[in-house]
Amino acid sequence: MTRYPQVAAFSGDENTIRVVGHRGARGILPENSIVGFDFALSIGVDLLEFDVLLSRDDIPVITHNHEFHGSAVRGADGAFLNGEHPRVASLTMAEIERFDIGRLNADTEYGRRFPDQAQMDGVRVPRLGELLQLVSQPRYAAACLMLELKSDPDLAQDSAVRERIVSVICRDVREAKLADRTLLHSFDWALLAECRRQAPDMPLSFLTQLQENEHDVGEDSSILVTPDFSNPDISVPDEVSKAGGSLWCPHFSELGANDLAQARELGLAVAAWTVNEPDDIEAMIDLRVDAIVTDYPGRVQQRLSERGFRWRR
Ligand code: MG
Repeated sequence: MTRYPQVAAFSGDENTIRVVGHRGARGILPENSIVGFDFALSIGVDLLEFDVLLSRDDIPVITHNHEFHGSAVRGADGAFLNGEHPRVASLTMAEIERFDIGRLNADTEYGRRFPDQAQMDGVRVPRLGELLQLVSQPRYAAACLMLELKSDPDLAQDSAVRERIVSVICRDVREAKLADRTLLHSFDWALLAECRRQAPDMPLSFLTQLQENEHDVGEDSSILVTPDFSNPDISVPDEVSKAGGSLWCPHFSELGANDLAQARELGLAVAAWTVNEPDDIEAMIDLRVDAIVTDYPGRVQQRLSERGFRWRR
């Protein structure tokens, strides 16, 4: 009994486990890039996860960290940033478009995490509007968006900032007429409460991570803005349900069969992130999650096919 069509698109069934392209297809193409999103969609991965921040001139841009790092970002001179970490919120869109995100820097720990990622030139940080335009093309009519709103830990307490972020992003989604194909997704539950207030037409997807893990190396952590669920008496799916969530997105290492069963009872769809290693993919298939969020969508497709599952109905 799902009210929102996009929640159905993220829900599995006995023959179906969905595949969500994490930042497009980060394992093989530049993350949060139009070329990565287009690739994922073109191989039949209809569900895209990506991260949205605001530029200084209030344009929603698709990028993960609040600062650009030399692990994946080059300046206008073609060199990886070295020693400077420009803040996205301090740059205009015109300034942001001068950076190149087409390559990873193998001299950094983050850069070494994705050794199969293509090396490209001239790849720009996209505006949210560019992705909305891409998925508006008739050939991608099945595409749905897991739009992650990133909150700046320094400003997370500021309700005026929250209001502005949500209003600017939802305006873009509505103008593109994609509200019925978008989930609003975040670690920041206060930001999601603001989404609920401003955008009851879009379902909420709650990310959780109980502890830091090795997957956080080289990027902004979300631990600072997410509620503390370390008390084992707290049921996380229950909290998600009470907060009005449609999806629950736990880190895959923190998801067990009991929580999954409870989430199902509460009517939540469960999407585990970010599942890249073959054994972990198998474990999530064994659990029968609704959706697997991955940097390697082809790898998950292969495992699903081998085991007789589909990722589209
Ligand atoms: Mg994300």
